[in-house]
Amino acid sequence: MTLQEAWDATHCKCPLPVEEQVSWTLDNPGRRFKACPIYDENEKCNFYGFLDPELPTDYYRVQISLFQLA
Ligand SMILES: [Zn+2]
Repeated sequence: MTLQEAWDATHCKCPLPVEEQVSWTLDNPGRRFKACPIYDENEKCNFYGFLDPELPTDYYRVQISLFQLA
């Protein structure tokens, strides 16, 4: 899925409306994405698309790992 396809998407296949969320994983801190609200529970749901481009550097990852150690 391209970023534009994720921006344009409104519904999953299941067919719930997709929700805009923010990822706070170490790999994608602060990165916005859209996903089906039951993506984790329904294996038929495969809607998961990032709205922001990949982080260009590891800067945020390093900051977050430092924060978690503190
Ligand atoms: Zn779904």
